[in-house]
Amino acid sequence: MLERMKSFKKIDAHSHIGYFGGWSNVGITPEELIAQMDEYNVEKTVICTYPIKESLDAVDKYPDRFVGAAWVNPNDTDPLGQIRDAVASHGFKAIKLHPLMHSYLPNDECVFPIAELAMELEIPLMIHTGHPPYSLPWSVAQLADFYPDLPIVMIHMGHGNGMYVQSAIDMAKKYSNLYLETSGMPMHTKIKEGYEKVGSSRIMWGLDAPFHHPTVEMQRTIVSGLSDKQLEDVFYNNAKKLLKL
Ligand SMILES: [Zn+2]
Repeated sequence: MLERMKSFKKIDAHSHIGYFGGWSNVGITPEELIAQMDEYNVEKTVICTYPIKESLDAVDKYPDRFVGAAWVNPNDTDPLGQIRDAVASHGFKAIKLHPLMHSYLPNDECVFPIAELAMELEIPLMIHTGHPPYSLPWSVAQLADFYPDLPIVMIHMGHGNGMYVQSAIDMAKKYSNLYLETSGMPMHTKIKEGYEKVGSSRIMWGLDAPFHHPTVEMQRTIVSGLSDKQLEDVFYNNAKKLLKL
């Protein structure tokens, strides 16, 4: 099984570097993450950090391995300036929002200027999902409804709660600009269901390092019931296409 997991070329659509204290008490350096990527055949990893500086430095240092997602808090001073700088001067390819951590709703008007900038820059918006009250799929869907031309990735596709996972799939089926990312979502069956119901190009694999181990995240995808050809979409093709890598 391990060799089979390693055999698929991968792009990790959502991970972090750095140390996370408090309840989680996990951490990984850029070099440790790259060593892990090499071990498990991960070509590139989309990384985000808050504050953004650590990810700017890591992408500058390892531009062939890391893809930057500019993680901002809409209620900070000058989030738009941070995004513009990350894209223009550091080649970042996406914007990341964590409404739960920063206490706002994905469909709040504080997000609108960021959504509009994402469209101007032609990059997707990646939003943490799965926890009430600030990061539920229905709120992300409302943002998708406001901005039908903006690709929005629901990171964790609803995360640990089966009802939220189902709603992420339902909302992505309804809104063609919504995408699913699989990290931390426990049900292998929902990966196949997402692929079939939402669409072959709108679900992508992610690890969420350092919170999860690659063998766990890869195995759930491998046993999801998808064919090898379909697994190639989830592990590699879909992130490559969406992020223009
Ligand atoms: Zn994460």
